[in-house]
Parts: sequence; C-alpha cells; structure tokens
Amino acid sequence: MYSAPFEYVCATSLAEALRLVNERREDTKLLAGGQSLIPLLKLRLAAPGLVLDIGRLAELKGIRETAEGIEIGALVRHAEIENSELLARACPLLPETAAEVGDLQVRNRGTFGGSLAHADPAGDFPAAALALDAKLIASSVAGHRSIAAQDFFVDLMTTALQANEILTAILVPKLGPRTGSAYVKMRQQASGFAIVGVASVLTFDSRGKIEKARVAITGVGPAPYRASAAEGRLRGVNPEDRAMEHAAAAAADGVDVSGDMHASAEYRRELAAIFTRRSLEAAAARARKAP
Ligand SMILES: Cc1cc2nc3c(=O)[nH]c(=O)nc-3n(C[C@H](O)[C@H](O)[C@H](O)COP(=O)(O)OP(=O)(O)OC[C@H]3O[C@@H](n4cnc5c(N)ncnc54)[C@H](O)[C@@H]3O)c2cc1C
Repeated sequence: MYSAPFEYVCATSLAEALRLVNERREDTKLLAGGQSLIPLLKLRLAAPGLVLDIGRLAELKGIRETAEGIEIGALVRHAEIENSELLARACPLLPETAAEVGDLQVRNRGTFGGSLAHADPAGDFPAAALALDAKLIASSVAGHRSIAAQDFFVDLMTTALQANEILTAILVPKLGPRTGSAYVKMRQQASGFAIVGVASVLTFDSRGKIEKARVAITGVGPAPYRASAAEGRLRGVNPEDRAMEHAAAAAADGVDVSGDMHASAEYRRELAAIFTRRSLEAAAARARKAP
C-alpha cells in the first residue's frame, strides 16, 4: 500500500526543525529511523501533511559520559547502543536491551529516541529507560525541559511530548556500586516484539541486602510501567530465591493486563511474574559480582 501524499523536508539544523514543528504541530510527523513511521504511513494509520526528516541532525547524535552519568542523543541507533564500549562498561542494561530489538536491519536504522517517542506498548527501550530512571530532554523553540521516564509514558503510544517538541537526548544517571541489571524478554515469534519484557536494576547495601530496586515491564499493559508493588517487596530484604519469587508475584498488580491473539491476559499476567523473577535473579547475580 502507498502512503497518502505528504510534503517532505529534510532539516539541516535543530533550530530549523524546531521552527517547522512549531509552525505545523499536529500536521507534522518526525522521521528518525523510519522503522515505525514508514509502516504507519504505508498502512495509512498516519497521514501527516509534513514528514520532517530529522535523521541528519548532528546535534542529536553521539553517546557521551558526563559528571552525572551518560547522555545519549535521540538519533543514536539501536546498533550503536548494542556495540558501545562505554555503555557496556557504564550501563550494560542498554546494550543488553538493544540486542533484543527486532533484527539486524531494524537495529541498524531504528533510533533510541524514536523508540521512546513512538512508545509502542511492546517496545523494549521504554522498559530500560524506566528501570534506569532516565531523564528525557524535550526541546522546543521555547527551550529545553527534562521529563522523568516515569512521567513520559502516559498511555498507549502516548507520551508527555507536546506537538511542538522534539526529543533531543536521554540522560542516564550513574549507577552506584554493588549494582546489577538485566533485561529478559519473551519474543513474539513473527515480529520479535515483547510479549513480556522486564528490565530490573538492583543495588545492594554493604551487608548484601537490597537497598534499591527498580523493575520496569513492557508488553503487559497499554503502556510500559514501573512495577512498584514488586519493588516495594524487595527493599531491605535478602536477595534469595523466595524473596524474588514473592516480589515477582506482584509484577502485574494494579495493571490492566492486555490480551490478544498472541497471549491472553491471564497468560501474560503469569508470564509477567515468571520473567520478573528471571530478570531479578539475573540482576542480583550481577550485583553480587559488581564492585
Ligand atoms: C520488523 C520490525 C521489528 C521490530 N521489532 C522491535 C522489537 O522487537 N522491539 C522494539 O522495541 N521495537 C521493534 N521495532 C521498532 C523499532 O525499534 C523502531 O526503530 C522504533 O520503534 C522507532 O524508532 P525509529 O527511529 O525507527 O523512529 P521512526 O519510525 O522514524 O519514528 C517513530 C515515531 O516516533 C516519532 N519520533 C521519532 N524520533 C523522534 C524524536 N527524536 N522526537 C520526537 N518524536 C520522534 C516519529 O514522529 C514517529 O511518530 C521493530 C520494527 C520493525 C520494522
């Protein structure tokens, strides 16, 4: 199927892109890696008047270490994250998650910012961004604002971004000592998208108890979410199997669990618990070995 006709502009600077998106707002779709937008256009699920290509904006590229953590440009591709030595050392959850996204072609074109802005309810990176407590930088002609990942994913494919904003960068805070992380996923066989995906980050205190726990789940509800009931069961406890299982049992508490042709709601709820336990066990094993 062919898309509806649209005007195409390839932005040459962030300032130009922000000006155009401010003028055209809801009439505009940004094109980053095109891995989600192009299918939407071809299926005519989106029919914008303007497709604004931001794919060449140097301001949105690169991965940098800062005093507070790591800054990742919105246009950094999944494959760059997967293969980044800096991230492998400082934030291994992101390369581990990137390796789970689609196939090689998708990872070579798709962007980190595009995945977060698109907010597919089964997308992998939203779970990682939530578990890492990332901050998302939204830019407009009025300036920049920082949005906590927890406030960014609002509903089904709906984020806190305004129509005149572009996601320009993602800030990942430094992980402390005695911290381990893991992303585990059950793939839908045809597309590779998550039926359930669980990202967790655990920090132990000096006595080996869990000091901080962040668990984020994708694929289960209309939007990715922090499993706060599970997190609450982990704080201050010894990270043994029973504790992980007890916490994982609360993985979908309070969530309107989705059911579809790939997995019923009941099955997904069960998978959420199983994959949360696996994610927590892997994160705990890594935290035990971390400096
Ligand atoms: C066959 C296939 C398999 C896939 N499997 C998976 C998978 O297993 N897991 C997974 O998570 N994803 C999967 N994807 C989706 C893929 O990860 C996409 O790359 C991603 O969802 C969107 O990134 P993009 O750069 O391609 O964005 P685009 O397609 O260019 O844009 C997507 C949407 O985000 C908006 N947007 C893009 N960049 C910005 C920005 N900087 N600021 C504001 N809005 C922006 C666009 O306007 C558009 O609405 C798959 C895709 C395909 C085609």
